[in-house]
This record gives sequence, C-alpha cells and structure tokens, in this order.
Amino acid sequence: MKSLVMERKMELSLRDFPEISRAEETLGPRDVRIKLHTVGICGSDVHYYTHGKVGPFEVTEPMVLGHEAAGTVIEVGSEVTNLSIGDRVCMEPGIPDATSKAARLGMYNIDPAVRFWATPPVHGVLRPTCVHPADFTFKLPDNVSFAEGAMVEPLAVGVHAATKARVKPGDVAVVMGAGPIGLVTALSALAAGCARVFVTDLAEKKLEIAASLSPAITPVHAGTDDLTTTVMAATENWGADIVFEATGAPKAAAGVFQPLAPGGCVVFIGGQADPIAYDAGAAMVREARVENIFRYAHVFPRCVGMLASGAIDVKPLITRKFDFNDSVRAFEIAASAPMADVKMQIELPQ
Ligand SMILES: [Zn+2]
Repeated sequence: MKSLVMERKMELSLRDFPEISRAEETLGPRDVRIKLHTVGICGSDVHYYTHGKVGPFEVTEPMVLGHEAAGTVIEVGSEVTNLSIGDRVCMEPGIPDATSKAARLGMYNIDPAVRFWATPPVHGVLRPTCVHPADFTFKLPDNVSFAEGAMVEPLAVGVHAATKARVKPGDVAVVMGAGPIGLVTALSALAAGCARVFVTDLAEKKLEIAASLSPAITPVHAGTDDLTTTVMAATENWGADIVFEATGAPKAAAGVFQPLAPGGCVVFIGGQADPIAYDAGAAMVREARVENIFRYAHVFPRCVGMLASGAIDVKPLITRKFDFNDSVRAFEIAASAPMADVKMQIELPQ
C-alpha cells in the first residue's frame, strides 16, 4: 500500500515509500505497531505543501505528511501492558526524550528535541502503518469513532489553551478565529466552565458551525460586527475574562486586549511568522495576564475522556472526508482554504 509523499513544495504523490527507515519501522519492547485508519489534514501539513516549510522546519527531502491520526493496534512490544492487538487508538504525534530536563519539568512539549510527525526530518502517518511508543498511544472507548480519535490532536491544543487560561466557572471568553483550532478552543473553554464564548471570524459558514455547537456560543462576524462593542454590551462594559487568539493573523492579534476585562487573560494560540504589534499600554491598564502555548503536554487522556462522556462533541467540525486514493486532491482543496470547511480527514483502506 502507498503513502502520501510530499516530494517538494507544491508536489504530492501517492507512491510506495521505501525511504521509511528500518529504525522507524522496528518495533521496540515498549512500542506498538498501528494500522492507520483516519488522518486529519492540519494547517501545518497544508503549509508544508504550499510553502515547503513551517517556521525553521524546511522539507529538503521527500516526506510523508499527516499527524492527526487514529488506527488499530496490530502488534505490541514485549513490555507493553496497557494495549493489546485490536485496540482502537489515537496517537500523540510528538515523542519527547523522557530524560530531558524539559520532560522532567513537565513541559516536554517545548523540548527542542521532540520528534514530531510530519516535521522534517520525521515522517508523518499518511501511510499504511507506523510504529509508536505505547506511552503516547491512547485507547479509544467503543463510543469514540476513528474520526473523533483523529480529532484528539487538534482538540488537545484547545484543552491545553483552556488549561493555561485557568478558566473559572462562569467566565466569559472570546475566541478569535473559527478554524479547527478556534472551534476546539471554544469547546474546551465551555467544557472548562465558561458561561459564554464569543467566536469571531470572517467566514459566514464557519460562524454558522460555531453557533451550532452550543447555545453558549455567540458568533461575531469580524467584517461587519465590532467585537469589542459586542462583548462590552454583553458584559456591562466589563469585557471578557479570557481572549484566545487563534487566527495567527497579525491584525487580529494586535487587538487582543481591546475586548479584555481588567485582570483578564490572553492566550496566544495562533502562530506568527514575524514579530507583531502588541499594545503594551492596553495590557498594562488591565493588568492582563498573557499566556502562550505550543502544542500541548499530556492532555490526550483528558480529551479522550471528554469525547467519551459527551462533554465535548467534535463531530460537527469534521466537514469533509476523503478516500486515501483522493488524498492529493484533498490537499489541493485544503490548500485553497475553502471558507465552508473546518476539518477535512482522509480515510485509509482497511
Ligand atoms: Zn495538527
């Protein structure tokens, strides 16, 4: 069976991929071998395809894309006790060095040595099988589908952001951006206890999906409605307790303090390629707390738990599915940034 290979910028092919090294395919005593079932297309996968790089990571040799994955365990290493053959699982795509200083401090996600799928030189998982540490492989309960399992990776970002924000019951939040990360952040903020979440975007259809997720979500059209006016009107001129920036757009990020309440918290989620404007005066008079996140650290079990209990439902975010044979076309469509799509996923043949 073939793999989805990014040959170079703007060139993908479905082909056999013998370049996967023997080391990557060898099952260690604490590893499992997984047959991939569903893989989501992430903004970073698309960015590699269209730009050939993300930040400092440049694709210089053919690389398999994909890191939001769920599948079935088909082989277990001799020391693995928590998983068995046939288990349906999702996988955390970043493998840290457990002995590193960052890992020992509980922040392995910001260890520069993390090996993360589909980040050169590490291959992704739009391929038949992969070998992964059992410690970073999480069993899916029967009532959580492969499609939902492949949403755990982006959901983890939202859950990590809500954790950093230290949401209190009844907080009012703003989420800037209604893409996959914005919407999983809105869901995570609600699950963490927010009374109300304002979600802003330019895309009508994405706002419709946002509004459909919960009666506690209020969509705000970034082109026609003024976010700060809307939030102030709804909060007796106090502002939002938390503002999550999930657009990565410098213009949106420059305005994060405007709708923020005194003593509130801003969480920067969206990546920025270049330095951006930051209204230090507006932050100062509010004594704003500012948090930044980079991926997540050990929140997959919480995400799976919330999907299983129904505390979070990510199904409405999955707007399109493609057969693996159509995966090149799926990336072409994703690269056109369709206004009506949130998350697209690819299903591999079983
Ligand atoms: Zn992702």
